Amino acid sequence: MEWHFRCWQGGQTHRSGQARTRHSRPIGSPQAREQRLAGAYPGLLPARIGRCEDAAERRSPAGDVWRSGEKTVTGGQPRAKDTGRKGDPPPAPEPLDIEIIDSHCHLDLMEATPADAVAAARAVGIRRMVTVGVDLATSRWQAEVAAELPDVYAAVAIHPNEAARGVDEATFAELTALARLPKVRAVGETGLDYYRTPPEQHAAQQDSFRRHIAIAKETGRPLMIHDREAHADTLRVLAEEGAPATVVFHAFSGDAEMAKACADAGYVMSFAGNVTFKNAEQLREAAAVAPRELLLVETDAPFLTPTPFRGRPNGPYLVPLTLRAIAAVRGDEVDELAATVAATAERVFGPW
Ligand SMILES: [Zn+2]
Repeated sequence: MEWHFRCWQGGQTHRSGQARTRHSRPIGSPQAREQRLAGAYPGLLPARIGRCEDAAERRSPAGDVWRSGEKTVTGGQPRAKDTGRKGDPPPAPEPLDIEIIDSHCHLDLMEATPADAVAAARAVGIRRMVTVGVDLATSRWQAEVAAELPDVYAAVAIHPNEAARGVDEATFAELTALARLPKVRAVGETGLDYYRTPPEQHAAQQDSFRRHIAIAKETGRPLMIHDREAHADTLRVLAEEGAPATVVFHAFSGDAEMAKACADAGYVMSFAGNVTFKNAEQLREAAAVAPRELLLVETDAPFLTPTPFRGRPNGPYLVPLTLRAIAAVRGDEVDELAATVAATAERVFGPW
């Protein structure tokens, strides 16, 4: 990560031939992105992406020309492949009549600029979104974007797969400072991921999780949890530490029993596009039994694109597909569910 920060701080990059906001820059170098994806999103291994020759020159994974100073670099693979996504973005779904938010996405990893992602979402009734950091650099970036775009909130944290290698005190201190910013409205994603980390790294993950719980309580922010194949320990650590006032399980991955355990504790369950996957019957059972007032909907974009577009790039504008799928398995009216989800989002993340 040393190299990452050197390159990240090495100067602004701009797309050639077009005015761009500073948020259109990539987070760090292509290698940093590759490392981050491999760490936080293993299995979604990046395709061949450009190499950063030095701090003044980098290649956009989108195949654009990035220029710093006099140098230009061209080429590279489509950025969508960075995240394992293939194909064109799916078409816009039928708009919702009641506006809701995307409670978890990664604007930094998407092909669209943040402003374009917001506009596309708004066109279908997804009025707002929470963009989520997975390490210090991406957390800073999400906070900056949220400060500039009225419809965006940020969440900041070190992802459990990053935390498996240990997190230093300076990082926790900066996360705490970031979490206090007005548009940073959650501490996350944090938690446990036993799917991607070997047992010898679970202790470090749990330590980091405990620290993030403390930061959420200290700053009064909701805790946004990533729990993958670690349900029992996630619930145990929360109980041991004393959960913050508001806890959200992002991309909820438990079954009906886990949903009941979360409901008993008052934890909010945020369902993503994987609830629509063919093999996700247990997840649908969980969505069916979760109390309506504890439900949120998210994309985890650019990942977890709902059926029938699985594998293609996701965006906040696809939330309606997942909301409608959840309404169908619950037997809820879409508008009623949307209204409840909107109210829950405001309770969790605060008023805009
Ligand atoms: Zn995520």
